[in-house]
Amino acid sequence: MQRKRVTVFNGDDASPEVMKPTVDLLKKLELAIDFEFPLIGEAAEKAYGKMLPDETIASIDAADATFFGSTSGQSTAALFYLRWGKQTYANVRPCQWIPGYKSPMANPQGIDFIIVRENLEDLYLGLEGNIEDLHALNFYSKHARSSLSDLGAGRYAIKAITESGSERIIRYAFELASKRAGGKKVTLTSKYNMLSQVDGLFRDIGLQMSSSYPDIEFETFIIDDFLCRMISNPQALDVVVMPNLYGDIMSDGAAGLIGGLGLAPSGCYGDDYAYFESAHGTAPDIAGLNIINPTATILSAAMMLEYLDFNQHSKTLQQAVIQVYAQGKFIPVDQGGNASTTSFCNAIANCF
Ligand code: ATP
Repeated sequence: MQRKRVTVFNGDDASPEVMKPTVDLLKKLELAIDFEFPLIGEAAEKAYGKMLPDETIASIDAADATFFGSTSGQSTAALFYLRWGKQTYANVRPCQWIPGYKSPMANPQGIDFIIVRENLEDLYLGLEGNIEDLHALNFYSKHARSSLSDLGAGRYAIKAITESGSERIIRYAFELASKRAGGKKVTLTSKYNMLSQVDGLFRDIGLQMSSSYPDIEFETFIIDDFLCRMISNPQALDVVVMPNLYGDIMSDGAAGLIGGLGLAPSGCYGDDYAYFESAHGTAPDIAGLNIINPTATILSAAMMLEYLDFNQHSKTLQQAVIQVYAQGKFIPVDQGGNASTTSFCNAIANCF
């Protein structure tokens, strides 16, 4: 197999504490992968006069994938490039309970679903501003419940959902469901009652597309109803697709179902690029303590290995996680144990 290239950003605050040992685990697997660590943030500014220099962009472009540590600002420009620049429209966030995870649920057995979050549109376009700037547009909609000119001073953000953006993410969800061993079901959720235009379009496209996938069950729920169902019967879910903001919020909730953010991996896929990062942030409150749980990062790395066609090694990493939690000797602090980040990673390394 041709050697692969992976660009790595270790991230900020506690993030390097999980990124560095995870890259060490990948190196221990002796894969045909070359890792690059381009400069970013202040270090890049010193060397090149820019937080995101052309050299760093070139490294991302030349790589087969990027492994991204959460950022509190230093690598935000790289993140925006990875997302909008590389059009990574599908944010895939698996939610699977493994024995040993400290779930708050009485019966977490069998929780195994994937949130597919649209990653580029919705309220994340960054089109925000002062409400008074809109007055000149004389904007009117027959769906309006209030008039723009009656609103006082304040800010707006544009929520836009496109046909093509919805089609590609919903198709992604159907294709994923058709490949999964699970229940072969797609659940679509949005606020299609109150937001009948934007979120209604998202649902309509799902309804239309469902006829092309007769072997896959399709259901839709309004997002508030969905949240109640996700908490009361998560085992009923297989693949769930939703617009950007809901996906951001629901996936943290989904992580909570199995035991918290330390367990939630994530991958962002486009048609010809992908990057991988844990769903959690930089955990600044526990930086430097060597207690951040690396599970989310290790499982994100496993997703990356699968994307890079190292399927067997991806399984090796996942199996190691299952084994360490099953043995129960090196359980991270957020899961009720007392294993440091380092000793958990050592335990994973000892599995292969
Ligand atoms: P950011 O602004 O980067 O999103 P944040 O503090 O708002 O940072 P998170 O970093 O996701 O958000 O952290 C939320 C809480 O979850 C914090 O208390 C953090 O310590 C905890 N947390 C997040 N990730 C982990 C992890 N991998 N292991 C243990 N605790 C974690």
